[in-house]
Amino acid sequence: MAPKSASFPTIIAIANQKGGVGKTTTTINLGAALAELGKRVLLVDLDPQGNASTGLGIEYDMRDATTYDLLSGEISLADAALTTSVDRLEIVPATTDLSSADIELGDNANRSFLLREVLRKSGGGAEDYHYILIDCPPSLNILTVNAMVAADSIIVPLQSEFFALEGLSQLILTVRDVRQSANPDLRIEGIALTMYDARNNLSLQVEDDARENMGDMVFKTVIPRNVRLSEAPSFAVPVLNYDTNSKGSAAYRALAKEVIGRTKKRKAA
Ligand code: ADP
Ligand code: MG
Repeated sequence: MAPKSASFPTIIAIANQKGGVGKTTTTINLGAALAELGKRVLLVDLDPQGNASTGLGIEYDMRDATTYDLLSGEISLADAALTTSVDRLEIVPATTDLSSADIELGDNANRSFLLREVLRKSGGGAEDYHYILIDCPPSLNILTVNAMVAADSIIVPLQSEFFALEGLSQLILTVRDVRQSANPDLRIEGIALTMYDARNNLSLQVEDDARENMGDMVFKTVIPRNVRLSEAPSFAVPVLNYDTNSKGSAAYRALAKEVIGRTKKRKAA
């Protein structure tokens, strides 16, 4: 067993109700970049599609214990977390079971707090990690609300294309609701521009708009459109382990440093 981290982990939900904006890619590669910097990282796959699990080589028949079991309280975090081919990077995998969680958790008064209870239970295993990243489904459903209730902060991947900013106000309203009802300390860690193409005017325009409206909330690092990022999952590894010198690898390394800087500053404050 590796040494435990000195304090409680920083829990970050990667959320945006739009599909295909880079949530899973960011979860895997930010996680891998944090691990490369020596952090102990747990990914929680909270999307019934299980793309983060697949992208890290967790085959379906290896998913005996899943996020669903975690939410239903049937299993501990320590028993659900699987190691990956990347040092210091672990994952709780998801299966399509999770899509019924919406219905099955329906009449539980505590339904928004299930993930929080698991991740914040003292002695529950979370102390083993420096960072826990939650890969959310493309919806503002009860699963995403569970992630926001459990998290210290959220990272919002924003695809650098037309209408990118449209869904953001709805997301921010949900964050506000969660703050009022369940998790007053929830903050937006940052907005990460993804699939950015500096030769494309639209990308530049989305960036201008985002920085003008959201200011410093937008990470300095932008994630370029990079084919290596889309190829890596089919080799079941993060891009850092697939093409370590790619632009995608460099971008997620830079994002990891920014995230560490932001979370450190807050812990020190
Ligand atoms: P989400 O989890 O938000 O649905 P994904 O991370 O799965 O989004 O990304 C959607 C698709 O776009 C995937 O095929 C992924 O490989 C690809 N992709 C994501 N980010 C990039 C990028 N920066 N450059 C190129 N392809 C990307
Ligand atoms: Mg996804």
